Amino acid sequence: MKIYKNIYEWQNTRRTIPNDKKLGVVPTMGALHEGHLSLIKQSKAENDFTLVTIFLNPTQFNNKEDLVNYPATWNVDVKLLKNLKTDYLLAPDFKQIYPDNYNFTIKENKLSKILCGSARPGHFDGVLTVVMKLLMLADADRAYFGEKDFQQLLLVKKMAEAFFVKTEIVPCPTIREKDGLALSSRNRRLSSEGRKKASEYARIIKQKKNRSEIREELEMNNIKVDYLEEFFGRRFAAVFIDNIRLIDNFKL
Ligand code: AMP
Repeated sequence: MKIYKNIYEWQNTRRTIPNDKKLGVVPTMGALHEGHLSLIKQSKAENDFTLVTIFLNPTQFNNKEDLVNYPATWNVDVKLLKNLKTDYLLAPDFKQIYPDNYNFTIKENKLSKILCGSARPGHFDGVLTVVMKLLMLADADRAYFGEKDFQQLLLVKKMAEAFFVKTEIVPCPTIREKDGLALSSRNRRLSSEGRKKASEYARIIKQKKNRSEIREELEMNNIKVDYLEEFFGRRFAAVFIDNIRLIDNFKL
C-alpha cells in the first residue's frame, strides 16, 4: 500500500492510472472498524484500484470536546488497510485540505437543516465541503458511503448531482454488532455500562411502536434522546450515552 500525506504526490500517482482502469475511493476519518472495511471490500470488488482517505475533519465538529476525544488509531488503521490489500492511502493534514483556512464552503439549504443538521449547526457545511475536496482530489470513478450516515449519504449524492461531479456515489449497508448496535468509531469510547445501554438503544428503536412510545422507553432506560424522527420511510435516531452521541437509522 502506498501512503500519501502530500496531496500533490497522490495526484501525480492518479495521473499514472490508465483511463480504462477504475478507481474507487472510500473517505474516512480513521479509527477504522468493520463498517469502514465493508466499504473498502466493496470498492475492491467493483474497481481495479482503491484509495482510502483518512482525514479527521475539524470543520464538521460543532463540539470541540467531541473532536478532541475522537479516537485516533493510525498504526492499527494502516495495518487493517494493508491486510485488505488497499492500494492507496491518502492522509493529508489540515493545511493541505484547507489552504484557504475554510474560507470557501459548500452549503445546502434544505436537507442539511433537519435531523443531525438542526442538532449540529454547521456540521453538514463541514461534511459537504470536505467531501467535495476529497472527491476532487481522488478523481475516482466511484465513491463509497455508508447508510449508517444516511442523511450524509443523501446530501453527498445530491451535491454530486448539483455540481455535475463525475464520480458515482455508491451507498453501502450499515454493518452492526451481533446485538444490532451499528458499528461506529465512537462506540469504543463507551464504558461497559454505556455499552449495555447502547445495546438497549439498538433494540428499542427497532420495535414496531410509534415514536412517542419509543422515546418514552428510551428515556425510561436513562437514554437521552437528541432526536427520533421518520423521513423517507426510515426511522432516524440520535441519542447520548456516556455523553457520546450515537446515531442510527433503518428502513421502516
Ligand atoms: P467516518 O469515518 O465515521 O466518517 O465514516 C466513513 C464512512 O464509513 C462513511 O461513509 C460512513 O457512513 C461509513 N460507516 C461508518 N460506520 C459504518 C457502519 N457501521 N456500516 C457501514 N458504513 C459505515
